[in-house]
Amino acid sequence: MYSIATCNGWEQFLEFAQSRCSAIAFGNWLAPIRVLEYSDEKVVLEVPNIFVKEYLLSNYKKDLSAFLPLNADGDAAIEFQVIAPQKPAAPLPVTVITSKKSDESSVDLKLNLNYCFDTFIEGPTNQFVKSAAIGVAHRPAQSYNPLFIHGGVGLGKTHILHSIGHHITKNLRKLKVQCITTEAFINDLVESLRNKSVDRMKRYYRSDIDVLLFDDIQFLQYRRNFEDEFTNTFETLINQGKQIVITSDKPPSQLQLSERMIARMEWGLVAHIGIPELETRVAILQYKALQRGLRLTNSVAFFIAEHIYNNVRQLEGAINRLSAHSRLLNTEITEELVENILKEALQHAPRTKISVEQILKTVATVFEVRLSELKSTSRLQRIAEARQVAMYLACKFIKESLTMIAAYFGRTHSTLLHACKNIEKSLPTDLLLSRKVSMVEKSITV
Ligand code: ADP
Ligand code: MG
Repeated sequence: MYSIATCNGWEQFLEFAQSRCSAIAFGNWLAPIRVLEYSDEKVVLEVPNIFVKEYLLSNYKKDLSAFLPLNADGDAAIEFQVIAPQKPAAPLPVTVITSKKSDESSVDLKLNLNYCFDTFIEGPTNQFVKSAAIGVAHRPAQSYNPLFIHGGVGLGKTHILHSIGHHITKNLRKLKVQCITTEAFINDLVESLRNKSVDRMKRYYRSDIDVLLFDDIQFLQYRRNFEDEFTNTFETLINQGKQIVITSDKPPSQLQLSERMIARMEWGLVAHIGIPELETRVAILQYKALQRGLRLTNSVAFFIAEHIYNNVRQLEGAINRLSAHSRLLNTEITEELVENILKEALQHAPRTKISVEQILKTVATVFEVRLSELKSTSRLQRIAEARQVAMYLACKFIKESLTMIAAYFGRTHSTLLHACKNIEKSLPTDLLLSRKVSMVEKSITV
């Protein structure tokens, strides 16, 4: 306990800070701090979470030392105690999926029923995000807060976000979840301004929500007024121990948002969701095909996964089209059929994917060997050299693991490495080889 007289320094600091920051920032950040102990040696402050501590030190470090007792380094001698994390408050036992309340925001919770953890296929590039999301779904506001998920289009960000929503609405029924896109948030704000019900909307977002799932924050860029509103909502929720999950197509630092907002988003866990590598793409295709009752051989799945490689949504589209055709024509799905049906999707892939087969074919033409010879185990010098060139180019142009590339050639990882080294060594001195290699490169990269 402290006596009023002895914590004058803190009160003076608060007065000073109040004159320096907005009322909202003061209410969000400084007002919740309690003085537990105040002596000539140190001040013990109780903060609702680590963010408040960071806020205080990053904004007021120097000022604090002017008002509070100092330590040996000349800094304010503050000891922080973080209040033990509590379960987010759940004032009303509302089941959220159906909730639409006339006195509340016009926004409904719309979760896609297919987007749950069970239907999300994981691989090395999305495992981390999935685990973090599961952590948040099990213990909202007690693991990573905020959780910031970023990655390219069609890689499963919304899927993961809705999975968190489903899990919480199913297992922690008392918690109130709001899942909203940036566009919907802005529309809600505009609508509230029009109806003069902004206060109600603010109250809704800032006190009636336990978990805010915010999709596609990149659309908040260049919309300063809306951004400020979101930042205030964000800070209020975080300081009340509410969970926030945000998705974006870029990491926080690359978003054109205020420094304040970027810093807030980097507080918790920033997790990247990457393009699934070949094996995961095959697993996703097989899973989606199974869901639609479509039989897909492994070689066809590999064929599709090799050609459509940077967007899971396109993989899904391919499966949908194939499943429609196979139902109509009642035929087996072969590579030729796939090529015919998906011509458009394959052609419209943003950049032509270089495949091992393509490299082998081009190398065979330029080095004047037969494709079958390249694929054989022949050790004839001219064939072995051409094969090594193909391996070298595969390593250079194909974004797969070395083990995977070696498997395409039916060779081991170390044979592949040996081939690459050999060609790299010869290129600077062997002009003919170097000319041929660049011919192949030109031909496969146009
Ligand atoms: P984003 O929000 O990143 O643009 P979405 O979450 O909308 O991407 O995903 C696009 C589609 O791909 C959705 O139908 C989603 O279910 C599916 N999808 C993406 N990643 C996976 C995955 N790892 N496993 C299963 N489906 C996936
Ligand atoms: Mg999305």
